[in-house]
Amino acid sequence: MSAAEVGDDVLDRDPTMRALEARTAHLLGTADALWVPSGTMGNLIAMALHLQRGDRFLAPRGAHVLTHELGSAAWLAGGMPEALPWDAGPGRPPADTVRAHTGAGTRFDALRTTLLCLENTHNGAGGVVIPPHEHAQLAAAARDGGLRVHLDGARIWNAAIALGVPPAALTVGVDTVQACLSKGLGAPVGSVVAGSTEFIAEARRTRKMLGGGVRQGGVLAAAGIVALDRIDELAEDHDKATRLAEGLAELGWDVTPPQTNIVLVTVPDVRLALARLEDSGVLAVPMEGRLRFVTHRNVSKSDVEEVLHRLGRS
Ligand SMILES: *Cc1c(COP(=O)(O)O)cnc(C)c1O
Repeated sequence: MSAAEVGDDVLDRDPTMRALEARTAHLLGTADALWVPSGTMGNLIAMALHLQRGDRFLAPRGAHVLTHELGSAAWLAGGMPEALPWDAGPGRPPADTVRAHTGAGTRFDALRTTLLCLENTHNGAGGVVIPPHEHAQLAAAARDGGLRVHLDGARIWNAAIALGVPPAALTVGVDTVQACLSKGLGAPVGSVVAGSTEFIAEARRTRKMLGGGVRQGGVLAAAGIVALDRIDELAEDHDKATRLAEGLAELGWDVTPPQTNIVLVTVPDVRLALARLEDSGVLAVPMEGRLRFVTHRNVSKSDVEEVLHRLGRS
């Protein structure tokens, strides 16, 4: 970061920012990409550009844009949210459900549905992976109905590693995608929002409007480039989550087997369980009535064993 070549990204771009954006666009299979300070801002920029005020957008129940972005899709982007049920499995609405929500008619008083917002992996469902064929069917159903498609791919790298496919295989049929360089990849700050050249030109304006234009951003982009070098290492996080889940199950916990690096555990009383964990020096967060553990590069294999050891004793 300290050695990064920098310019002024608000004025006439920063070379390290441009390098990061070009590399990410290539990985995601889009024409261009734009660095943004957070995933939330990336999603908001996409939704603000796709939606007119009062348009309905569809997203799987529990999607980050519905539950963890403080209503910004409605408050700032002007969208009417519609949560789709998980009839194809946790975090997964079927393509038929998307189809049923499109083409409501052209009467003057019909609500307009204009956007499908997908999420891969689905965070709230426990880091659930949507495979390429299922993703493509959802995107095709939306496009057939005249909808645009945004993919909240904050965790798309985890999905790609879990499936053994390139990230671009998971963006087929989308207009825009947001992907985080923070979290599992370890950058202290930064996401990208990606799409067509025209979209990125507009996105840059919206980012500025939201206060997300930064000047010598190369310092931050350099961390993003390091993050992209670490994608393959996510497999270790997935292995640690699997080991944690197995160990917790052996201790009698009601565990949902993880697909990536998120382990959900069903407990009778979440608050009590969190307090008990904290007494043992183990941190977790509540997630939709369950406990959520996350493994990442700063939690080692021996840390996982230590967690299991402490919980076995308590
Ligand atoms: C973390 C996350 C975001 C938001 O990213 P921030 O950088 O925390 O704003 C969006 N969507 C999903 C699925 C996430 O997991």
